[in-house]
Amino acid sequence: MFDFIIIGGGIVGMSTAWQLKKTYPDSKMLLLEKESGPARHQTGHNSGVIHAGVYYTPGSLKAKFCLAGNLATKAFCREHDIPFDECGKLLVATNALEMERMKALWDRSEANGLERYWLNADELKEREPNITGMGGIFVPSSGIVDYKQVTAAMGREFERLGGEIRYNAEVTGLTEEASRVVVQTTQGEFQGKFLVSCSGLMADRVVRMLGLEPAFKICPFRGEYYLLKPEHNRIVNHLIYPIPDPNMPFLGVHLTRMIDGTVTVGPNAVLAFKREGYNKRDISLKDTLEMLTYPGILKVLMKNLKPGLTEMKNSLNKAGYLELVRKYCPSLTVDDLTPYPAGIRAQAVSKDGKLVDDFLFVNTKRTLNVCNAPSPAATSAIPIGGYIVDKIKEQVELPSAVA
Ligand SMILES: Cc1cc2nc3c(=O)[nH]c(=O)nc-3n(C[C@H](O)[C@H](O)[C@H](O)COP(=O)(O)OP(=O)(O)OC[C@H]3O[C@@H](n4cnc5c(N)ncnc54)[C@H](O)[C@@H]3O)c2cc1C
Repeated sequence: MFDFIIIGGGIVGMSTAWQLKKTYPDSKMLLLEKESGPARHQTGHNSGVIHAGVYYTPGSLKAKFCLAGNLATKAFCREHDIPFDECGKLLVATNALEMERMKALWDRSEANGLERYWLNADELKEREPNITGMGGIFVPSSGIVDYKQVTAAMGREFERLGGEIRYNAEVTGLTEEASRVVVQTTQGEFQGKFLVSCSGLMADRVVRMLGLEPAFKICPFRGEYYLLKPEHNRIVNHLIYPIPDPNMPFLGVHLTRMIDGTVTVGPNAVLAFKREGYNKRDISLKDTLEMLTYPGILKVLMKNLKPGLTEMKNSLNKAGYLELVRKYCPSLTVDDLTPYPAGIRAQAVSKDGKLVDDFLFVNTKRTLNVCNAPSPAATSAIPIGGYIVDKIKEQVELPSAVA
């Protein structure tokens, strides 16, 4: 019998497992991951940005976790010799409406306590000769890293402290009983006194295995990227972001200097017809039916029909996609964009048709389930893991329950 079983070898699961083992060093812990290694889904298919916390509602968990996560991620990288680059980020406004929205972001970032600088068009040009805009905000604390390396290091720490990781172990069934949780997997049955699920794109399905009917459904949104040709590796000095439309949940197509020295463009946000379908043509009948029969998702689709169709059109038409970035980087051409793997976001949608914006947890007596861990959850993974450990401390009466 394990004291704790954790589902999910993404960055949230690994961070939680590692911190839980540090907190309860004598406990027996097992992490189950269905893939053959860590970070094979959202964590391994993202932009690699260590966010600073510009956008998030002051006081929300998202804002709190991101601010703390920015510092904690850099400290973790220093400690574990993982390369990162604090290259800073520029938000660029290209028209009057975006200038207005940028002012709102300026105020919000002040409320979040960020160091940032307002740039006029000339100052912007001076910092970024290839970028054009009416003005910008420079945020020095944003950075880049490879989250696959961060997650692998967390996994190694967990194992070094005595935790066990089983890959290729998909959880297929869960039963919560008075004194334990029985976990069925493709590698047999395990029993734990407490279960933590950090299962990303499968979060709602795992909660349903417990016999609960969650008040949300995961809606997968593919984020498609292009890689710039190598001759453009020095086209920007910082991360370049557009000013997002506050009515849209995602940040818009940005130019990202990656930690390996390349530059990507993306991601967009296209409804995906398969939860783990990374190619445009991937379709799962089961996933599609589940989405299209959920009233909340139908409401979201109807409400966002026009922008949703535009995203789909630009996904199929490289020239349309290019225009999203040419708005602020006009020298790029269609030939500069080369293929790059997509990522899929796990976005929780509530029954009444809202995209859940903040972190969402569903707890039972012996389980804690992370049900929405949206961007910037890679940045925030260390404080999220710490938060989960604190919740478990409140929920579990030690030593009788787990020891
Ligand atoms: C395109 C894109 C760009 C992003 N950019 C950034 C960024 O620049 N910066 C940032 O901070 N955040 C970014 N994010 C968000 C960030 O990547 C995610 O919020 C974060 O990785 C979530 O981590 P996770 O561990 O919850 O999920 P995941 O990484 O998806 O991990 C969940 C794990 O659970 C496993 N699992 C699921 N079901 C089961 C089961 N039944 N049995 C066993 N294992 C199971 C899966 O195989 C998976 O490994 C981005 C996300 C995307 C998609």
